[in-house]
Amino acid sequence: MKVLKKEIVAGSAIQTFHFFIQWHLTERCNLSCRHCYQQKGKVREMTPEEIKAQIDGAADMFQAWEEEQGMTLSPSIHFTGGEPFLYDGLWDAVAHARDAGCRTAILTNGSLIRKEDARRAKTLGVSEIQISLEGPRDIHDKIRGKGSFAAALRGARILAENGQNVMANVTLSRLNADRIEETVETAKDAVFSSIGFSRLVPCGSGHDLLAQMLNPQEIRQAFSQILDLNGPDFEVSSGDPLATVLAGVKPAKGCSLALSGCSAGFSGVTVACDGTVMPCRRIGLAAGNLRKSSLRKIWATSRLLWRLRNRENYKGSCGRCILWPVCRGCRAVAYACSASQGRADLFADDPQCWLIDQEETPPAAKFP
Ligand code: SF4
Ligand code: SF4
Repeated sequence: MKVLKKEIVAGSAIQTFHFFIQWHLTERCNLSCRHCYQQKGKVREMTPEEIKAQIDGAADMFQAWEEEQGMTLSPSIHFTGGEPFLYDGLWDAVAHARDAGCRTAILTNGSLIRKEDARRAKTLGVSEIQISLEGPRDIHDKIRGKGSFAAALRGARILAENGQNVMANVTLSRLNADRIEETVETAKDAVFSSIGFSRLVPCGSGHDLLAQMLNPQEIRQAFSQILDLNGPDFEVSSGDPLATVLAGVKPAKGCSLALSGCSAGFSGVTVACDGTVMPCRRIGLAAGNLRKSSLRKIWATSRLLWRLRNRENYKGSCGRCILWPVCRGCRAVAYACSASQGRADLFADDPQCWLIDQEETPPAAKFP
């Protein structure tokens, strides 16, 4: 365990370590999307003052990593919700994160953005604002509610007119996977500067959409189409581990360090609006709480996070796979799908991986 910790924290194979915090400022939202992963219920949100103090704590952690591990760090904080524009301290938090040396991004449904917000985003140097887009108008409104497409595009336009980078992000499922090309065209026409795709995770309200999950071959086809649509004028991408696999990313021979792929436990962390720290919002398990402990301490000592870093915990094909260092599957999908079968297992195989589908347990030699 000691050796493992040293290797991963040092990130010896990585020159610049990109680390992100996905910071949920609120659970409140003005929409009610079918695939939302938020759990309903009352929570005590952190105040802007609490959030700023915790951003300072995170900045200290980043500085300590650089000094102690001799690495160059590129930290970013992605503020989201619920709907982050419903949180009164949003701009305070963004400004504080910027002053602490972090890149900032905002993930939103876009519907509440006003000209004043666009001006502030630009003044504060927000790197990117990501607006959820589910497809052309009919699909988007079916998933996110009537009128939500027009509202999202209005927000995107206001931002773009102020010279802001606006990315569209799509959650892939059977509800929209047959409209990928049209969705990309929609985003282009609507002044988005790029588009990204992520997978539906059947947790929260999204649990009802279990039947809408794509099977391994459908996911492969969808990611393949996404890679083909990428071009110099308009970026079409996916940060999903399986898209990385399809793009041909491979670890160096003999490498056993996690380098890319699923960020849970490795290169990113989620902070919920009540201070709960999670490996990923879509996994939903708690590693600690900022009201009781610092992020630095939680990151260094959480048993849950260390379990995610230890390859020996990964079951079946994912554990044996030579692509483990650059993939590990989506732990949230693995967890949610195994839970739906009554045997929740964070380290189960990713059920949407087409490589596993070939046989029950593909040996490492089968991978390209
Ligand atoms: S668990 Fe899935 S959604 Fe979360 S970071 Fe990993 S790949 Fe992304
Ligand atoms: S078996 Fe697991 S680690 Fe290997 S490619 Fe598939 S999802 Fe990724």
